[in-house]
Amino acid sequence: MESPGYRTFAVEVSRVQRLCPSFTRITFSGDDLLGFGACGADQRIKVVLPAPGRTAADLVATCRAWGEDWYPQWLAAPGDQRPLLRTYTVRGARPCLGEVDVDFVLHGAAPGDHAAAGPASRWAMTARPGDQLVVVGPDRPGTGRAWGREWAPPEGGRLLLAGDETAVPAVCAVLEALEPEAARRTVALLEVPCAEDALQPVASGGAAVRWLPRQGPAGHAAHGSLLVDAVRSLLDGGGLVAPAPRRPAEAGSTCDPDADLDVLWDVPEAVGSGDLYAWVAGEASVVRDLRRLVRGAGLPKTSLAAMGYWKAGRSEAA
Ligand SMILES: Cc1cc2nc3c(=O)[nH]c(=O)nc-3n(C[C@H](O)[C@H](O)[C@H](O)COP(=O)(O)OP(=O)(O)OC[C@H]3O[C@@H](n4cnc5c(N)ncnc54)[C@H](O)[C@@H]3O)c2cc1C
Repeated sequence: MESPGYRTFAVEVSRVQRLCPSFTRITFSGDDLLGFGACGADQRIKVVLPAPGRTAADLVATCRAWGEDWYPQWLAAPGDQRPLLRTYTVRGARPCLGEVDVDFVLHGAAPGDHAAAGPASRWAMTARPGDQLVVVGPDRPGTGRAWGREWAPPEGGRLLLAGDETAVPAVCAVLEALEPEAARRTVALLEVPCAEDALQPVASGGAAVRWLPRQGPAGHAAHGSLLVDAVRSLLDGGGLVAPAPRRPAEAGSTCDPDADLDVLWDVPEAVGSGDLYAWVAGEASVVRDLRRLVRGAGLPKTSLAAMGYWKAGRSEAA
């Protein structure tokens, strides 16, 4: 029988490293992670937090009792006892050491950033070595379909990565994994709360990486505005998409096929070949604007992965 490609892992915080005003890197460790099936790039996991009023020890015991069948049991748990699930990116994984790094954005921690912290961001602000938690991630022995990765560029062509701070861990992991030849064809645009949040990837192999801090000498830019402007000027400069007939603008939200969706998630089933592959992620309404821009410039649906990583004013459904 096919076993799932993902499962729960009981983990312990082994290191906490404040990288800059808005990011803290938490290293999770544990023997369980020796079986972690990280496959790089934008691999996502679920961080599982105790339900309000419950302890981390309760959480670990509950998840152990659920075993492989955790998801239906999680769904069936009464709302007030259901652990919280939040989605994060594997920033680094060393399965042979039983270690996984996750870079958490600390909402509202940078100067001029007044975002409210949610349970995961709050947890990360106070995490200490020894804290217990559970993550759901890819299982190396799993025989099911590979789970939780969207980065799938075609061979050749230019590559555009664009995102806000929640996409920085994924973009940095992708850049570090690119072959130098592919890196030279890559542009990454990353909007972050302040200039000190420009986290350089360990190696970007020649990719053009541009950081867009919202807090600047002229004040605080609205979330997503710098990213949208930067993508627009790349497209207007003709530097990214081969000239193609302009599609009629996909008008405002009333005509948007995703307008009713809670969070935009529009990734191609199969990746087409083309002159440009674009991967965009961040706040859902900003991603919707970016998708409209790049599709309007002639990029086919099969060459665009557009992912709402969070939605302003709404907790991740859990
Ligand atoms: C595939 C994927 C990968 C992701 N990878 C990462 C990652 O590596 N690192 C990371 O930090 N985040 C990442 N995120 C985003 C993260 O899941 C959300 O930010 C999540 O909502 C945080 O949970 P929370 O409990 O702190 O806040 P929630 O309880 O979900 O939300 C509470 C409030 O905070 C707001 N909020 C949520 N996120 C932000 C934000 N970033 N800035 C300002 N306000 C916010 C919400 O709109 C809401 O009003 C990823 C999301 C996805 C889908």
